[in-house]
Amino acid sequence: MRRLLVAGNWKMNASVAMTEHLLSAIRDAEIDTCDVAVFPPFPYLALAHSTIADAPIRLGAQTCSLEQSGAFTGEVAVSMLSEFQVALVLVGHSERRSLYGETDKIVLLKTLRVLEQGMTAVVCIGETLEERQAGNEREVVETQLRLLLDELSDQQWQSVVLAYEPVWAIGTGETATPEQAQAMHRYIRSLLQQRSADIANTTQILYGGSVKAANAAELFSQPDIDGGLVGGASLDANEFLGICRAK
Ligand code: 13P
Repeated sequence: MRRLLVAGNWKMNASVAMTEHLLSAIRDAEIDTCDVAVFPPFPYLALAHSTIADAPIRLGAQTCSLEQSGAFTGEVAVSMLSEFQVALVLVGHSERRSLYGETDKIVLLKTLRVLEQGMTAVVCIGETLEERQAGNEREVVETQLRLLLDELSDQQWQSVVLAYEPVWAIGTGETATPEQAQAMHRYIRSLLQQRSADIANTTQILYGGSVKAANAAELFSQPDIDGGLVGGASLDANEFLGICRAK
């Protein structure tokens, strides 16, 4: 049985006050209906870690460097993240792909770095509006997954979470319908099935794209949707907790 995971990707939104407010609210809510993870910007990870204290909230980072250390100005290595108890790293978010040139090859290499460090990679995939309108959404998602399907071992797959985030639903208020999301999640699981039944059964596939408290229950009740990767709605404590309690 796959557990439900609700993860808040804060993107480039935070302050000291916001980090303390949001995380103490989540900590004090003692959510037990799902696993909870938060992905604050890098400078707030240490504060996030101390605010979460012993609560069962998993800490994540929004990206990481391909490199281990050295002359890479501005980059952050996975070994640094793990010193702040970061357990998960987002890889290949559509904003990283479209704005910072993260290719499928880079996504594979970053995933390997994260796994080598003993952390979980949350790998994001999803088609653009033009790709969906052209009827190519399955092909796009399969291409984004291909290197991972071919290169990761069965054991490595145990530390991978997938997040299906159709680009047209991100930050637009336009959510994929539960049926559209379920159809794509089912398809993604069928691709995993080609690797092994075990990988298909155990890999969590999150949905992302305008998830909010009002639509989370319907999305999470779909058989192949194992939680949400939440952007805008994760910045409001009540809204985020509403999503965590949706199922
Ligand atoms: P929104 O929830 O703001 O649409 O963002 C989704 C997302 O990109 C999460 O990674």
